[in-house]
Amino acid sequence: MNAAELRHPAQADAVQQDLEARVAQRTAELAEAVKNLESFSYSVSHDLRTPLRAISGFAQILARRHRASLDQEGRHYLDNIVRASEQMGRLIEDLLNYSRLGRQVIRLERIDLTAVLGGLAHDFAPRLRALGATLELPQAPLPVRGDHTLLVQIFLNLIENALTYRRQDVPPVVGISAAIESDAITVCVADNGIGIAPEHHEAIFGVFQRLHTQDEYPGTGIGLATVKRSVGMLGGDVRVESEPGAGSRFYVRLRRPQ
Ligand code: ADP
Repeated sequence: MNAAELRHPAQADAVQQDLEARVAQRTAELAEAVKNLESFSYSVSHDLRTPLRAISGFAQILARRHRASLDQEGRHYLDNIVRASEQMGRLIEDLLNYSRLGRQVIRLERIDLTAVLGGLAHDFAPRLRALGATLELPQAPLPVRGDHTLLVQIFLNLIENALTYRRQDVPPVVGISAAIESDAITVCVADNGIGIAPEHHEAIFGVFQRLHTQDEYPGTGIGLATVKRSVGMLGGDVRVESEPGAGSRFYVRLRRPQ
């Protein structure tokens, strides 16, 4: 029997209240479970750093002092150990960074996104020069309701990806533009890179979801998960439009200051 079928309004109210209390309790349990899982993944990634430091430290000593006495096969194995431990180090750092987001106290304030992007353009300048890449930025001020660290995380990852997933022999062009609505600003980060097939548009925002091997394109698969989480913490959302070979456009919707 559902609440509508009850004859007595008082009974319907009681059922309604009971349901609301149960939903609230389950939501609180779920939030607690998520919190536990986060502190678990944080401490696991944190504790993994120590043995990893030992592995890469000893591998480096081995490479420095004994490389000459190893045969070709031995050197090949050693190089693989060094490479794998470096990759694991990057994974742990990115995972820690991702888990830290959940613990971070965020300050929602009025921030000019154009200034944030200008700072990033400055940091990316050497990389842009090395790749012969162009980064086009909005010029007018773009006030958003945000947190400086999260905004940097979001656009740093998107620009980084736009430069990484470039087409061979095509200089990367990254264009950032904004559309202003009544209560939101949608920022588009567009590139002329390799593009993404529509069936992967959802999955790429998950942790460790990658479409390429390390040899094709280096990465950890945490960048877009960090973007999605950061945007969510600011009360916005992110989506992608893309086709293989036709570049990608990532749309980040942010709230305007009140
Ligand atoms: P990472 O770049 O470390 O692999 P991300 O979470 O940032 O991790 O991205 C997940 C995957 O999405 C990438 O491995 C890549 O296949 C795809 N991707 C992300 N950004 C782009 C882009 N601008 N162009 C093409 N593919 C992209």
